[in-house]
Amino acid sequence: MKRVYIFFVAFLFCPILFSASLNFCDQKNSDVEVQEQSNLEFRQLSINEEFYIFCKAYPFAEFELEYDDEVDDMKLSVTSFGKTTILYYCDGLYLPKEEIPNRDHYLPVIHNYQRVLRDPADFTEEEKQRIRNYGSDENRQNGPVSSKFIFDAIYDCWTRHSSETHLRNMTLWGKPLSVNRMVGEIVDRVEAKVYELGETDAEVAEFLRTLGRCWGYNWRQIRDAPTKSFHSYGIALDILPRGWENKIVYWGYEKQKGNKDWMMIPLEDRWLPPPAVVEAFEDEGFIWGGRWDIWDNMHFEYHPELLLASKIYETM
Ligand SMILES: [Zn+2]
Repeated sequence: MKRVYIFFVAFLFCPILFSASLNFCDQKNSDVEVQEQSNLEFRQLSINEEFYIFCKAYPFAEFELEYDDEVDDMKLSVTSFGKTTILYYCDGLYLPKEEIPNRDHYLPVIHNYQRVLRDPADFTEEEKQRIRNYGSDENRQNGPVSSKFIFDAIYDCWTRHSSETHLRNMTLWGKPLSVNRMVGEIVDRVEAKVYELGETDAEVAEFLRTLGRCWGYNWRQIRDAPTKSFHSYGIALDILPRGWENKIVYWGYEKQKGNKDWMMIPLEDRWLPPPAVVEAFEDEGFIWGGRWDIWDNMHFEYHPELLLASKIYETM
């Protein structure tokens, strides 16, 4: 007989999360780029904590957790947009049954996103080498990729067709773009917050004045890795000033030019959005690519689950 455990862990523990002041917690929307994350020194959360996080981060989807005798693992049912997907826990990979034998190809869904910007001048030689290895062609093309099946299920983005069914055309600071409609209202809130900040913060006002383009949905692979980009889900945004202010915006452009020390490029030589703009995004559940070892400073991605997880990591 099948043993069934439905975890309503939200009501049992994690008081820290209830007191967390993440604005997006009570909203009806949600979204992140795990592929770009190389900081894997994290302690994995428990399955109950992760289950709670998914329920909280994605209120428009339904999650159920139960034990599967046959597979001898917990299975997560995700129901969203009228479709139910079964994924197996696999130590945080959340894989469909047929992908379980390929588990070494994937990285965990939840990891420790930290709202800090490291100064490359502080990198040790070891860190420099680790980051260089992470960004190597070999690792980017043959190393493990982020497991995105749970996001395919949450956003019903299994195919280009299904992904495009859920798009909303909109503007962000006057620039046209398309995003997944579950994220549209969240982008609206970030837009309003930044407009408000621009009334008193000169740096934000200048950011708005010099904004060149915004991109959202784009069905494509990650530039140098065999997995689709979160732009394909309509939950990632690229924001660029006109002329990039003559700065560098993306690690890969420097690597392509043959700069082996691309990770050491000083922060002042990189284009950075104003900190208040980054904060406005993060407060609403977006992560910023500028914090990744393989930095992508124009890139934001909706991953409320990572910002909720970071609240737990902070207490560890
Ligand atoms: Zn991007």
